Amino acid sequence: MAATVVRLPWNGQHWPGRVVDGVPTFGFRSAPPGLATRRQLRARGLCPGGRDWVAQVRWRGGRRWAALYLVDQAVESPGATTAQLISLWKAQRVLRTCTECGLLAPYRLPKFNGRRCWPCRPARRRGGRVMAVPQNVINPGPASLPPRRFAGPGFPTTTSAVERYRWYRH
Ligand SMILES: [Zn+2]
Repeated sequence: MAATVVRLPWNGQHWPGRVVDGVPTFGFRSAPPGLATRRQLRARGLCPGGRDWVAQVRWRGGRRWAALYLVDQAVESPGATTAQLISLWKAQRVLRTCTECGLLAPYRLPKFNGRRCWPCRPARRRGGRVMAVPQNVINPGPASLPPRRFAGPGFPTTTSAVERYRWYRH
């Protein structure tokens, strides 16, 4: 497609691009300076501050796109509120709780087995051997008991590469 020139409505300058849906549209890595995506604003500690986005970046034939905000109109981010932090904490707790025995893992449980912990994982039907239960995990009791935490002093908060491999190999 031949490159056209669009007039930027916020400063009157001209820049290679096109207008899609009435919005200046640029290719990948072709946006004029002074614009930033929401994550680029966040990297500088800024946020849109209620302002709407003024341009967009499109790539991969329009299958991917990103909104562009004016950096000059961005405001300093006030950070998350207490309610937002509590909401995130609750979501993390749900993602870390085994749906079968209620055990609270120190990491998010995988979704492919219905967010079950390692001892509650469904056994393979055929063609695979049943993996042994790792020694650092308490064998959970019945579902009526309150959630039990992982055993061992100083259990790592993040899983090691070996542990992840054992999780996802079956
Ligand atoms: Zn479980």
